[in-house]
Amino acid sequence: MVIASVPEKQVKIGPTQLLINNEWVNSVSDRRFETINPATGETICEVAEADAPDVDKAVQAARNAFTTGEWSKMSATRRGELLYKLADLIEQNIDELARLETLDNGKPLSDSLNADLRLVIACYRYYAGWADKVQGKTIPINGPYFCYTRHEPVGVVGQIIPWNFPLLMQAWKLGPALATGNTVVMKTAEQTPLSALRVGELIIEAGFPPGVVNILSGYGPTAGAAISHHMDIDKVAFTGSTEVGHLIMEAAAKSNLKRVTLELGGKSPNIVFADADMDEAIQGAHNALFFNQGQCCNAGSRLFVEEKCYDEFVAKSVERAKQRVVGNPFDSNTQQGPQVDKDQFDKVMSYIESGMREGAQMLCGGNQVGDRGYFIQPTVFADVRNDMKIAQEEIFGPVMSIIKFKDIDEVIHLANTTMYGLAAGVWTKDITKALAIANNVRAGTVWVNCYHVFDAAAPFGGFKQSGMGRELGEYCLEHYTEIKTVTVKL
Ligand code: NAD
Repeated sequence: MVIASVPEKQVKIGPTQLLINNEWVNSVSDRRFETINPATGETICEVAEADAPDVDKAVQAARNAFTTGEWSKMSATRRGELLYKLADLIEQNIDELARLETLDNGKPLSDSLNADLRLVIACYRYYAGWADKVQGKTIPINGPYFCYTRHEPVGVVGQIIPWNFPLLMQAWKLGPALATGNTVVMKTAEQTPLSALRVGELIIEAGFPPGVVNILSGYGPTAGAAISHHMDIDKVAFTGSTEVGHLIMEAAAKSNLKRVTLELGGKSPNIVFADADMDEAIQGAHNALFFNQGQCCNAGSRLFVEEKCYDEFVAKSVERAKQRVVGNPFDSNTQQGPQVDKDQFDKVMSYIESGMREGAQMLCGGNQVGDRGYFIQPTVFADVRNDMKIAQEEIFGPVMSIIKFKDIDEVIHLANTTMYGLAAGVWTKDITKALAIANNVRAGTVWVNCYHVFDAAAPFGGFKQSGMGRELGEYCLEHYTEIKTVTVKL
């Protein structure tokens, strides 16, 4: 399929400099880098490239805001009002932001608008509501004392986010950090810097004081590493690959023991029993894997199907994958856009080759779509074994791997045979089976007869090497506060 020209002319680009102390500035080195439209491979524009000296400047601004600025004295209620205002401004600019997200990332415009942006707005509103509801306890200790706890902000927080949901990851990180009174130095992913910078403008417009939110575009080993190693950053929150997650923890250990939360990769089991509603399970498994070009940390990327319904399920899943509409992400009927960049495209193609080499059966897809951009055909492998590379490593692309199982004990064992533990799905009409899976699969989220259901109120995060800590919900607030015990002699 040839990709029609993308109407990028209709997309407003917004700022391209660094946001430090509510000012738009070039990097200290004056270097810039290109951001690419993945639908065409062409350059959209250049953005300022942050490195360690820019991180230092941003940390200084964030530290000043935390200790002496208006923010440090602001009431919790007012912080909530600013977050509500930001949500309103994002809503007023929803079309523009969705188009920018699609241009820089490649995801279908309908997804940017109806999934990403809706969840972004809901996330800011959810944490706006929390701002004045974070409170300590009074504790009846022995003796003539009055003892209570205060939940104080951690301080200056470094946040490093990925490219698969640029605006949503920004919201998941900024919402709880700002609700609890921290200040932030955020580094966006080098593939997708643009939408977060536009939100930076809205942050200023909403009235957040200088230094509270600083946004840097730049690369991981330079600007990202400068954050994780920084001696004056109190906490780092990271979302991305497990490999880099190890580096972040190591850097925290070697520097100032900053607090670390990690949201990393996954290889999530999605389990279909023969007693499931077949049509729902087929559609659900399709979305679980192919949504967002397969670029979801929680994608249902190990699809376990019970022997009794295996042949029917495989045949229908292949038919469904063949119908998936791949193309210009700005077309309203497009369901799948390009992979985010050439590196990811090459990586996904190499996993497809590995699947064929290891003897899995490729039943559809396997090739590039069109002759420019990074589009890949929806691909389905059957007869996959759980020990194959395509069943153990994160592909992060539109490649479905179907594995046959006999019974519930076997599938629980196979589901847990992975270094990851981010999410899981189960499809069955038998509540006992569903709950047995929910209780025994080691994963931070289990979806029953559904998948990819996200809500700002429901915590999300991983067991095992899928990370540590939880994002979203009330649980996330713990990671952005320090508990102080105050004891007063009476
Ligand atoms: P990555 O982990 O390299 O990048 C994520 C973020 O970390 C980016 O902002 C990047 O600049 C930064 N980073 C990279 N190296 C760093 C370092 N040494 N120190 C500090 N920050 C650093 O991910 P990637 O290379 O873009 O993608 C590789 C794979 O990671 C993907 O194929 C996928 O499997 C996985 N991934 C997972 C998620 C997720 O949501 N869990 C998101 C993106 C990628």
